[in-house]
Amino acid sequence: MAESGRAAVFTGVRQPFEIREFAVPEPKPADMVVRVSRTNICGTDLHLWRGDTDIAKMGVTYGIILGHEMCGVVHKLGAKVRSDSLGQTLREGDRVVFTYYFPCGRCMACLKGCPHMCMTSLTCPVRPCDMAPHFTGGFADFYYVKRGQAVFKVPDTLESELVAGANCALSQVLFGLQQVHLAFGETVVVQGAGGLGLYACAVAKEMGAHKVIVVDGIKARLELAKRFGADDVIDISEVDDPRARVGMVQSMTDGWGADVVVEVVGKPEVCNEGIRMLARGGRYLELGNINPKHTYKADPSLLVGYNRSIVGVSLYPPLTLKQAVDFLVRTRDKYPYDELLSHAWPLESIDQAFNESDAFGGCGSVVRASIVPHAVENREVAK
Ligand SMILES: [Zn+2]
Ligand SMILES: [Zn+2]
Repeated sequence: MAESGRAAVFTGVRQPFEIREFAVPEPKPADMVVRVSRTNICGTDLHLWRGDTDIAKMGVTYGIILGHEMCGVVHKLGAKVRSDSLGQTLREGDRVVFTYYFPCGRCMACLKGCPHMCMTSLTCPVRPCDMAPHFTGGFADFYYVKRGQAVFKVPDTLESELVAGANCALSQVLFGLQQVHLAFGETVVVQGAGGLGLYACAVAKEMGAHKVIVVDGIKARLELAKRFGADDVIDISEVDDPRARVGMVQSMTDGWGADVVVEVVGKPEVCNEGIRMLARGGRYLELGNINPKHTYKADPSLLVGYNRSIVGVSLYPPLTLKQAVDFLVRTRDKYPYDELLSHAWPLESIDQAFNESDAFGGCGSVVRASIVPHAVENREVAK
């Protein structure tokens, strides 16, 4: 009998996921099938599930598999696949991490060397999962990796738990901070100490930031932020006036302001405060506000008069994923990455995972929840 695997199918806004079985496909010669080790519930998954983002506008229908922040083990290699993107030999059973989007390679953005800006690339699985190859999202037993997706073998020293976050959250902040040209000795404010914010602290410090200041309203998160490299924190629950918080950033930076402010709250209400925290020449890195039509009232003179800029960054070039994996190898003993993954659920409990992430994600202890389809394998800590 043909081998089959489960997938949690997204059927509608706030609807229970439907666990369905599909035959595991034979990979085409340049593709591969991966057994999913772990898929984190990213903010984007929650936005889609809550209906904040209209999937119809993305040209897709329900009946798809969500989940993209993942890693896995090579299950079946296509006949022509011998190595990963760096030329390292790949065998079935090897742990891998891979990009989750599909740059077309032939649009104007791709031709300009910016695959992360591809005009036709979709981050979300386009095909309903009842069509082959079925396994097009991370909340499933298997995932089908197509030719064109960068694949990197996971070094033996890195646990699957840690590496799953590399292909969305960590790569995103890494590339974002590169795009605003964070320079050695600069100061950084991070608005929001969720998964992206915590990674942003560590990355900013490792890029040579003189000082990292984190703004959040949850004490436990602020404490964790300090362990991820934050030098100072501002607790919104104690300082509820945005002007006072801007003043605090001024005094924490010797009156200069922040050279870079990273927005990873995902709410437009925080933008004006963040922009006011910027120094002259400061760059506002906008990563979190991904939902269209969520707006804020802007005063352009806050930019012009101070030579400030806003830089929006979405996705990352494939090479960033390798840099993210290398970064984790280099710093795995320095920052408490394992605490970032606060909760793990088996695939059949995905409804509970989403409900709890939704209820607590913005205001509680769930920093980043994961779906672990194959519990035994995931416990496996690399040598
Ligand atoms: Zn994501
Ligand atoms: Zn393209």
